[in-house]
Amino acid sequence: MDKHSGDNAIPEDNNVSHTIESFKETDIAKIALDSANVGIWIMDPASRKFFPSERTREMFGFLPKEEMSFEDAMLKVVDKQRKNVVEAIENAFKKRSILYIECPIIDLHDNKKRWLSITGGFSSSTVSNSYFSGIIMDITEQKQSDLRRSKFIGMVSHELKTPLTALKAYVQMLNNWAKKQKDNFTIGTLSKVDKQVKKMLNMINSLLNLSGAEAGKIHLNKAEFRLDVLINEVVEETLFITSTHNIIINPCNTVSINADRDKIEQVLVNLLSNAAKYSDNTADIEIGCVLKDSEVEVSIKDKGLGIAPADIDKLFMPHYRVESKETENIAGFGIGLYLCAEIINRHNGKIWVESEPGKGSNFKFTLPVS
Ligand code: ADP
Repeated sequence: MDKHSGDNAIPEDNNVSHTIESFKETDIAKIALDSANVGIWIMDPASRKFFPSERTREMFGFLPKEEMSFEDAMLKVVDKQRKNVVEAIENAFKKRSILYIECPIIDLHDNKKRWLSITGGFSSSTVSNSYFSGIIMDITEQKQSDLRRSKFIGMVSHELKTPLTALKAYVQMLNNWAKKQKDNFTIGTLSKVDKQVKKMLNMINSLLNLSGAEAGKIHLNKAEFRLDVLINEVVEETLFITSTHNIIINPCNTVSINADRDKIEQVLVNLLSNAAKYSDNTADIEIGCVLKDSEVEVSIKDKGLGIAPADIDKLFMPHYRVESKETENIAGFGIGLYLCAEIINRHNGKIWVESEPGKGSNFKFTLPVS
């Protein structure tokens, strides 16, 4: 780790010989922050005054003695991300919840993009529980290696998708031919092949979207379409692929939206397959949509495992999976809900879950109507 002129280090005093036992907790904190190259900051909710450490200012591209207000720091955040970053900080601040964000900034010295992680919250100690404070780290190297990995996943998925799409078309052709021949054995076998090909295509689409989302590039191909029709299609498809659960479609209003049909289909597929994956085969799944002013609310309700409140907050983060006895044998990568959230947010909608452990979950999302 390279040396830097951090202000976290305890002052050097050549006349005093420190032994490890002589350090106070505050000294240890200063030494550890300096060695780990971590910046610190504190904010006063009453006056909204913001005090960053020297290392924090450095990470945002300011000179060690330069002043840096909260607004100055936010101006360094990449334009496209600034609104989200400010919103996440303001939310944690207002709700007194834990803050963790990764934000890209442009270093004005070399015009290069760097990534910082900002962690914070309200201190639990009685003296300082009214202050919002935290740490900040430079995670550029880790982020670059994540981006290389996701670029590779994107390339591989794209290459796999082409032959698989061709395979799907040939299965369709063969199926038409078998129907003409009234060859029931071939029809039955092709239906099984089709099921597996569709499962693989769903997985590959998830990986492709993951790679796009991680690179901050979910491209939306928006067009007008009927959401209620799409819901019916996805339910039919899910019943064909999973066929373990009964899915009840609650009557939906006729509703048109201007959105990316394939991506909204992916959200519905993910939520329905999760509802099946995390609940007993005998339990029904319900799906429905209702119009509410200028938006439509879709809900997918199961009577499965349910989710504990502590997990709910982290559910939509990439690679997060609930670890419990019930879920340990259920396979997954923890990317489905992260992608759902990315897709819905990009459409200016909201996604959340209402759930009770042991009783079931109700995943809901909203989208603006045309
Ligand atoms: P995956 O299912 O591949 O693990 P997801 O991102 O789709 O990834 O889901 C993240 C986690 O959320 C799952 O591992 C599971 O623990 C929990 N989860 C998702 N949907 C449900 C549900 N309907 N009921 C209970 N738990 C769920």
